Amino acid sequence: SRALQPLQADRSKVYVADLESTLHYTLRVEAGRPAVLAGAQLGALKCYVATLAKVDFLGGFGLEVLMVVPTRSRPSVLQASPAAVLPTNITWVGCRGSEPHFRGYPCGLWTVFHLLTIQAAQGGPDQELPLEVLSTMRCYVKHFFGCQECAQHFEAMAAKSMDQVKGRDEAVLWLWSHHNEVNARLAGGDTEDPQFPKLQWPPPDMCPQCHREQRGVHTWDEAAVLSFLKERFSPGNLLLDHAV
Ligand code: FAD
Repeated sequence: SRALQPLQADRSKVYVADLESTLHYTLRVEAGRPAVLAGAQLGALKCYVATLAKVDFLGGFGLEVLMVVPTRSRPSVLQASPAAVLPTNITWVGCRGSEPHFRGYPCGLWTVFHLLTIQAAQGGPDQELPLEVLSTMRCYVKHFFGCQECAQHFEAMAAKSMDQVKGRDEAVLWLWSHHNEVNARLAGGDTEDPQFPKLQWPPPDMCPQCHREQRGVHTWDEAAVLSFLKERFSPGNLLLDHAV
């Protein structure tokens, strides 16, 4: 059943429904908004689609083939091959809020990009891929993310340090630590779902080994965080089933 209450989702899992719904929203809603797609905006979309197509997205059971079909007029967007299985509706499971205006798509977008940085870090010969994922996210957010204030904040963070990221694991940790920076900024604010308070993540009950204390000051064990993230986004931890 798709009628899942938020507290029924297992927070240790990643739900394929959230990933697919995010793809649907990015490709069919956000990328469909501009009357004309051209220049840097079209470039950003091509980059996004190319990154999705390059990684083994959803461990092979999600989107199978993506093709960018540029034409002179709009839409220079995307056609899925007959084999592609991108759903036509949106179902939030792990990202479902306690009210419809909470969570959903922004949660899904973070989740997709964490997955992409981690999949890029897991293998494949292409050393540039992790940096490509981060810059794809930066470009996508700048050109398409509907929350403009969010996009400006993210661009400011990216401009400060994203270019200094050197490797795949560093890219995973960059996104994790900057997501935590956003969590800290938004904690206690209007956009916080009271049933899903914004935490420095993962909290100690999810990953005790990620947390350290040195002379009374909290620090992260980044190697433990990296292992935790790799495990969280491993194919075996992606749940296809909407019901739990
Ligand atoms: P989210 O923060 O969306 O996180 C989704 C899930 O990811 C969580 O449920 C958790 O399982 C996991 N998670 C949490 N933290 C981390 C982490 N550090 N690393 C890995 N996984 C993690 N909203 C604003 O009001 N103002 C803004 O400026 C703003 N900027 C944004 C910028 C970007 C690029 C994005 C994608 C979103 C932004 N948002 C902003 C939305 C906001 O960050 C949340 O996505 C939204 O409020 C929903 O929150 P959530 O509780 O579902 O958790």
